[in-house]
Amino acid sequence: MFYGTAASDGIGIGNVMIIEEHTLSYSPKTVIDPDAESQRYNDAVNAFCENTMAQADALRASTGDKEAEILEGHIQIIKDPYLNGEIEKLIANGTCAESALEQMCDQFITVFSMADDELTKQRASDVRDIKAGMLGILLGVKEIKISDAPKGTVLVAHELTPSMTAGIVKENIVGIVTETGGKTSHSAILARALEIPAVLSVEGAVSSLANGQKVIVDGSEGIVIESPDSEQMEIYTQKRDAFIKERRELEKYKGKETVSASGEVYELFCNIGKPEDAVKAMDFDGEGVGLFRTEFLFMDRDAVPTEDEQFEAYKKAALILKGKPLIIRTLDIGGDKDLPYLGLKKEENPFMGFRAIRYCLKNNDLFKSQIRAILRASAFGDIRIMFPLITTLDELRAGKQLVENIKLELKEANISFDENIKVGVMAETSSAAVIADLLAKEADFFSIGTNDLTGYTMACDRGNSDVSYLYSALQPSVLRLIKNIIECGVKNNIPVGMCGEAAANPMMIPLLISFGLTEFSVSAPSVLKVRKTISQWTKQEADKVAEKVMTFATEQEVTDYLKTII
Ligand code: PEP
Ligand code: MG
Repeated sequence: MFYGTAASDGIGIGNVMIIEEHTLSYSPKTVIDPDAESQRYNDAVNAFCENTMAQADALRASTGDKEAEILEGHIQIIKDPYLNGEIEKLIANGTCAESALEQMCDQFITVFSMADDELTKQRASDVRDIKAGMLGILLGVKEIKISDAPKGTVLVAHELTPSMTAGIVKENIVGIVTETGGKTSHSAILARALEIPAVLSVEGAVSSLANGQKVIVDGSEGIVIESPDSEQMEIYTQKRDAFIKERRELEKYKGKETVSASGEVYELFCNIGKPEDAVKAMDFDGEGVGLFRTEFLFMDRDAVPTEDEQFEAYKKAALILKGKPLIIRTLDIGGDKDLPYLGLKKEENPFMGFRAIRYCLKNNDLFKSQIRAILRASAFGDIRIMFPLITTLDELRAGKQLVENIKLELKEANISFDENIKVGVMAETSSAAVIADLLAKEADFFSIGTNDLTGYTMACDRGNSDVSYLYSALQPSVLRLIKNIIECGVKNNIPVGMCGEAAANPMMIPLLISFGLTEFSVSAPSVLKVRKTISQWTKQEADKVAEKVMTFATEQEVTDYLKTII
């Protein structure tokens, strides 16, 4: 039995499929047909150049010429007559293509690494990249496609990156187990949205479990049982059925208003990652979408989606929602969300780095095409724009200015859009929380992103199990910031929602009701449970609870007390 972080409720029983990072190892061979080997090598060079050219075109569209030129430089290097001549000589002498390539690349890497100037040194890492790309092609290393997983699969991986999870076919995956990640890491969020039981941060899962092995994944308790015996199978089959029954009982909240016991009405929205998820949001009775994580549109592909592709996606979601609100968050990449084709620099500290609104404001073409797409789609529904990771008023102003500029362009081109489109701030940094009074004067709405707000406030990474004891939105410091954001919104007459995972936490809900939150945005499967919880509180009772909670000095005191009253 293994223990980890309970990241997505439910019980999954199925067979393990290990997602391993591929290796580029091989055994050097002596070739008997050098001509055929030379042909194989040249075919690989052509394939490499084709792939690289496509990546360079994508980069040019997204990031600009400079980055694209670096990739085009890779084509020049692999076609270098000296390099090729030497490789051909080695092959003619019976060396296999992989080995010939590696020997020559390693020579170049050694020479470049010893240079004094940075530019030449950089060439060494270019050659390393080229070597890896070429070896991948020569060895025919295929990426494992999660989308090909058969029914009843439990995915087991060191880490499930957002782009990997984007390929999951819900019907086929009954459980997820990873060696890293916490409750609010993106694989956890996606697992919950897909209603797939998940246990994360299970040490040694990849080496201890075997492909095809039967396992039980208890995503509610954070337990994984390998090769269960018949007694365990019986217990967990019953647990699984009970879980499904409880979910069914919540059905009576379907079609109802979201209203507290004292009559205050709330908006209850869903978080989505793809336009099709809007169908699910509606099926689960969401009253709109409070967070469309648009970065998922940019994943699982080789290039930035065009303005038209994005327009179609946003329009599709708006049409599915039939006039219900759709808050579209602009591209939030960086941190744990990488887009390899953008060629983002490796950073020492990516969560503090060049990400989200910071990246977008510096990559005008990419940002402009997203805003244009959102504005064009706003003619088809109640669309609102939200900027992620705002830390300064300048960023909000720059984002709003861009929206205004694009509105003018669209007007001139006679393209319809919602002239009164609302532009809001995702309040998810400590800075935004502290200057919420200033931001509230210029934003049309706030949505509190507790996943990041907790991380930045507590200075801990949401996926790092060593510091997970600190990572709680119920920490007094985080609660004070949440209260401040909501109160500043209320004072300035702008609506304040919450789209971080804490919005679905039954212990948090009375506090949010008391502080004055008006919109909750949660994963689709949580909608009915949140509606039920809200219905159990009167404003007066919630106020009493909040008043008491805000006197506590530690998270332990907060949770101990809240556990006694829910
Ligand atoms: C958040 O930070 O709370 C949030 C909702 O955004 P994400 O989880 O995508 O960072
Ligand atoms: Mg965030």
